[in-house]
Amino acid sequence: MKHKFRCRCGHLAGEVMEPRKAIRGVCYCKDCQAYANALGQRQSVLDDCGGTDVVATQSKYVVFTQGVQALACLSLSEKGLLRWYASCCNTPIGNTLRNHRVPYVGLVHSCLGSNTEITSTFGAVQMQLNTKGASSRPTWKATGKLAALGKFVPSLLLGRLNGSYKVSPFFDFNQGSPIVKPKVLSQSELQQARNAA
Ligand SMILES: [Zn+2]
Ligand SMILES: [Zn+2]
Repeated sequence: MKHKFRCRCGHLAGEVMEPRKAIRGVCYCKDCQAYANALGQRQSVLDDCGGTDVVATQSKYVVFTQGVQALACLSLSEKGLLRWYASCCNTPIGNTLRNHRVPYVGLVHSCLGSNTEITSTFGAVQMQLNTKGASSRPTWKATGKLAALGKFVPSLLLGRLNGSYKVSPFFDFNQGSPIVKPKVLSQSELQQARNAA
């Protein structure tokens, strides 16, 4: 079983393998909001409370099938997460750590289809993260966080130990670096992204 993903214009596309091994959460942190804002995608990405619906999986399960030349990367700071997007239409794709040995990818819902499609493959949202950053208090509560993490975190650690982290479409493992150079936002770009509403 696999779940297809694509940018809004359809140029960049790919597949998530083993979708049942993924977990799903909504992150309300200010950085995820700034990422959506920096791409001009606030309306299409953030929910009413400023949350971003993310499907977390291992990098080895993510495969690009077309348009990977359009894959671009920004970061809010020199040390920040790598925030990948499709440069053809500014669709957010997902987040990875800077450390390529941690095989984590958080795919942003905007490339995964409708809420119904996402739920039918990945199930309901299991956790809400960084709710302090929410623009208003979420009126619902996700359940299943501990079970989800209990399943997911060991597989990440194992992926790091057994070397399967070396299978990632986001990194060049000969260089140990991302496949495209991240664009780090300038202070004024960051301020603008933080203040957009
Ligand atoms: Zn596109
Ligand atoms: Zn976040």
